[in-house]
Amino acid sequence: MSDSTLFQKIHQGAIPAKFLARRERCFAIEDIDAKAPFHVLVIPVKPIPSLADLAEDDGVIVADCLALASDLAREHGLAKGWRLVANVGADGGQTVAHLHFHVLGGRHLGWPPG
Ligand code: AMP
Repeated sequence: MSDSTLFQKIHQGAIPAKFLARRERCFAIEDIDAKAPFHVLVIPVKPIPSLADLAEDDGVIVADCLALASDLAREHGLAKGWRLVANVGADGGQTVAHLHFHVLGGRHLGWPPG
């Protein structure tokens, strides 16, 4: 299992994290380096490297991730708004090669991002 991704290790319990949800195809954890009062990562169980690597039948996985993000935002009172971010590749700022969606909220989020 040495080639497991960081998020697979977290999902398996080998690395600790604070879980907010576990579903069949995806799960959510608190980001260890929060950039906003609410900063959660929604992660597919399948270790898809990034949005640039989706297979034809991965659509249901992405849909489940987005549904979980929306549910978490609602459950955590982000009624004023929130942001979903998926960094892709080096120029996109991706540091973990296992697809994940950042769900950010709890403060006004500036635009454009850096
Ligand atoms: P990205 O830079 O888009 O690939 O996002 C990776 C995210 O994973 C960053 O926001 C990190 O703070 C976060 N992260 C890295 N290690 C951990 C960990 N052990 N537990 C929770 N979040 C982590």
